[in-house]
Amino acid sequence: MIALQQPTQSGWNIIGHEHAIDLLRRTLAAQQVRHAYLFTGPEHIGKTLLAHRLAQTLLCTGGPDPQVAPQAPCNECLSCRKVLHGNHPDLHIIARPPDKQFIVIEQIRALQSDSARKTMEGRRNVFIVQGAHEMNLLAANCLLKTLEEPESDVVLLLTAPDPGLLLPTIRSRVQQISLHLLTAAQIKAALEKKWHVEPDEAALIAALAAGRMGWAVQAAEDEDLLIERKAQLETLARLPTFGNVQRFEIAQRLSADAEKARAVLELWLLWWRDMVLAVHQCLDLTVNVDMRQTLKQQALHVGNGESERMVRAILDTMEALDQNVNTRAALEVLMLDVPTIKM
Ligand SMILES: [Zn+2]
Repeated sequence: MIALQQPTQSGWNIIGHEHAIDLLRRTLAAQQVRHAYLFTGPEHIGKTLLAHRLAQTLLCTGGPDPQVAPQAPCNECLSCRKVLHGNHPDLHIIARPPDKQFIVIEQIRALQSDSARKTMEGRRNVFIVQGAHEMNLLAANCLLKTLEEPESDVVLLLTAPDPGLLLPTIRSRVQQISLHLLTAAQIKAALEKKWHVEPDEAALIAALAAGRMGWAVQAAEDEDLLIERKAQLETLARLPTFGNVQRFEIAQRLSADAEKARAVLELWLLWWRDMVLAVHQCLDLTVNVDMRQTLKQQALHVGNGESERMVRAILDTMEALDQNVNTRAALEVLMLDVPTIKM
């Protein structure tokens, strides 16, 4: 979901990522838009939002010369409004279907036939390939053909967490723009000003967001997200006191939904990173600011070696899940890695 916001003077209407927007503005001003861009950065940092804003700018007809893309979307012309409402005929979104493991070749073939067609309304045909790392090899090779011989009016906007997840042949044909984490202060200020979140809650969300504005917006708009997080963390905090039967029950429950398992593992990763910090008496650097007391207590029972081992084990499990190993088996192995403590 793309959070729609009210227009601001900059038109781009994005919190942070000034370096990326400056670069794109200069490119647009010089009328030197490339055929393909790759936006990279962690989940929920704003890659897809930025790709949408660039697409909107490329299609915007509100500039001084309607034949030329302005340096920022006007947010008012018919074209901009169609993009914002998700119904511009020249903007095509490609993403992994929820019931599939990959972006498949049929989707890229559709992209190719759409890109060969004349644009319906705008100056360009813009394609956003969201999560381009989720293309399987066939699809990736098919996309490569489009990148090698692009139609003159086609712009491809790819997003991926890390450029290393794409084929080198694809990487070499796109301009990479990496997005960086925002500071907690930037996120807190934006939540208060634009989403009217109370200062205390904004501070908590900003700390938990760990630099990801998209996550912060989700948390501000969806109360259940924070409630769910708290419940997950409380289970996590009790896990070292559980025997194997209880641990395997949790693994089984989590494995029912692979997507959710992945989100829970991200939470676990932050938790055990916090534990490493707590063990080293750097509690003030922990992300889970509302759980510092629990972290402090557990750190007394968990050694430095054990907490670092857990961080590695969680990263290994995430990697295994990306490679489609059996979710339940992978989580059960991880459960056995959780240190045992008697509280
Ligand atoms: Zn416009």
